[in-house]
Amino acid sequence: MTRKVTILGATGSIGQQALDVARAHPEELQVVAMSAHTRIEQLIPLVQEFRPRFVAVHTVEQARVVRAQCPFVEVGFGEEALQDAASLTESSMLLNALVGAAGIRSTLAALQAGIDVALANKETLVAAGDLVLDAARVAKVKILPVDSEHSAITQCLQDAHSPTDVEKLLLTASGGPFRTASKADLLRVTVQDALAHPTWTMGAKISIDSATLMNKGLEVIEAHFLFDVPYSDIEILIHPQSIIHSMVQFRDGAVLAQLGSPDMRIPIQYALLGDQGRLAANWKRLNWSEVSQLTFELPDIEKFPAISLAYECGIAQKTYPAVMNAANETAVYAFLAGHIHFLEIVEIVRRVVEAHQAEVGMGLDEIFAADRWARETAQSLIAKRGL
Ligand code: NAD
Ligand code: MG
Repeated sequence: MTRKVTILGATGSIGQQALDVARAHPEELQVVAMSAHTRIEQLIPLVQEFRPRFVAVHTVEQARVVRAQCPFVEVGFGEEALQDAASLTESSMLLNALVGAAGIRSTLAALQAGIDVALANKETLVAAGDLVLDAARVAKVKILPVDSEHSAITQCLQDAHSPTDVEKLLLTASGGPFRTASKADLLRVTVQDALAHPTWTMGAKISIDSATLMNKGLEVIEAHFLFDVPYSDIEILIHPQSIIHSMVQFRDGAVLAQLGSPDMRIPIQYALLGDQGRLAANWKRLNWSEVSQLTFELPDIEKFPAISLAYECGIAQKTYPAVMNAANETAVYAFLAGHIHFLEIVEIVRRVVEAHQAEVGMGLDEIFAADRWARETAQSLIAKRGL
């Protein structure tokens, strides 16, 4: 049976690769709704190609433009339209490929409507992990990871008998563009340097997160929630070739790894269609004669303080991960806009986290209040630049 899917963030890096997966499997996948935020001229040909039933855009002007060029589709705009797309019951799966905490409401809307969620938007789990897992449990729906590391771990866990089989998760990381840079080099890096990821081509925000290694910190928290493994059993391993996408070490000493070309279409397809087995796809194969070596090293936590900060916030729970995430988003966009230096990104996040008093309750309101406070606090530190 054809799976009907909604793709939020269709014009982004993950969204476009998901549409490639849909092109490769027209019998198995039908895109029934999509969203875009800014790149409307990119969205229009996609709407014409995939002919979804519903499209969500950001502004009323954008909605007018889409309606004029695609009269066959229903178009909504604003936050409400995004939630309408996420909870469209005609769809049986939402691919949440939005970036940032802006994706939380959409994830929850889909789960509450009984729709499985293929989750690329890791910020959802970082900021609101407990709430999201509760919503999935109550509605008896699945959260399927799209992040390559978490997809790898899911695949490695296929024949685990019980959670106690698992001794530890080994999250691999390329190390980003500054793996071999000195601390002095880091003082001088430009936005272009930081965007130039050695093995993956991704959206701007995650590219910067990969350069600070905050991305791996976010992924540690994501893994904790997805696999219910304590932080003490989640390790980061630098693996510059990005061929092993992560590993699971079991209590009998065996280690399983998942390997492949660094191509996000593989984990996207696994999330969207993995329950139907391994469907044939002709993405570029790993060429073993080109893979001369697979190397590993421990992360340099002095040079990349985002790693310890993320473990600390994950362990502190409450609103700390949400605050870390929101401060990070603010600092990353300030760096991209040229307002702060590279090393100031994580420094600002640390200061915001240190100033935070966790809320007593832990509902969505507390999370959004903490998120707002963190953005404002980060913004005022950026304005002062007294670092
Ligand atoms: P991107 O910047 O390329 O795309 C983001 C999409 O979200 C765009 O379509 C944009 O229009 C939309 N968007 C942004 N802000 C929005 C808002 N406030 N409201 C509604 N829509 C908004 O980002 P990406 O690289 O595709 O990453 C998407 C998510 O997937 C992120 O959470 C990222 O961490 C995760 N992820 C990405 C990759 C990758 O290879 N790109 C790999 C693993 C995980
Ligand atoms: Mg990843």
